[in-house]
Amino acid sequence: MARRKFVVGNWKMNGLSDALGEARAIFAAADSHSSVDVAICPPFTLIGAMVATAPGKAVGGQDCHGAASGAFTGSVAAPMLADAGASLVIVGHSERREGFGESDADVRAKAEAGLSAGLSVILCVGEPLAVRESGGAIDFVLAQVAGSVPESFDPQRLAIAYEPIWAIGTGLVPTVGDVAAMHGAIRGALAERFGDAAQAMRLLYGGSVNGDNAPELLNAGDVDGALVGGASLTAAKFVPIVEAAAAL
Ligand code: PEP
Repeated sequence: MARRKFVVGNWKMNGLSDALGEARAIFAAADSHSSVDVAICPPFTLIGAMVATAPGKAVGGQDCHGAASGAFTGSVAAPMLADAGASLVIVGHSERREGFGESDADVRAKAEAGLSAGLSVILCVGEPLAVRESGGAIDFVLAQVAGSVPESFDPQRLAIAYEPIWAIGTGLVPTVGDVAAMHGAIRGALAERFGDAAQAMRLLYGGSVNGDNAPELLNAGDVDGALVGGASLTAAKFVPIVEAAAAL
């Protein structure tokens, strides 16, 4: 089954309203590459303004609560993201799992909340360095997949992002062989659990992707796109990644 390439920018806690020009430039460049789906996930505070300045483009949240509403001071619910014009949400990023103690069960609840609100979901998994060095990366990540992927969903609306924690923001990247092995293992586990639906799910790689390494990372087996942090903040750095995806 042909899966469209998907390149997603995660702006993390970066971006004031003067950054909207970069988003406009990114989406304008993406218009020339119709084979690639391009999305930007800015901070919550910029979602509405980004949707307004780039109508019809894919703008997403970086997290959501597992409940649709309630007494959760400071949290944002998935229906609120949809109401603000978002069409997707990232859940289970390692900066949430590690920094905010989110468990697989929490991540699964967030993914279910996002899907119920009509959003597409990018669900992140990835191992810490000690696990990679001990040889346990695949088992670790497959346990995260088993614990955090919901039981039923539209496979076109749930993507998995493999993001080794030690590669995020460090400039380090796994070998192409290691990326392909991990993505193959994730696809295999999804196929065992969900059958043919696994072939429709997109698997993204994330961790220090840039314009130089994107061509080979995006070409690795079972890689359908990239989740990009630092290099997504400017059109100058992000557009070459979109171009690399379009060239495949
Ligand atoms: C991320 O935070 O999702 C990420 C991949 O960051 P970076 O590209 O900066 O490593």
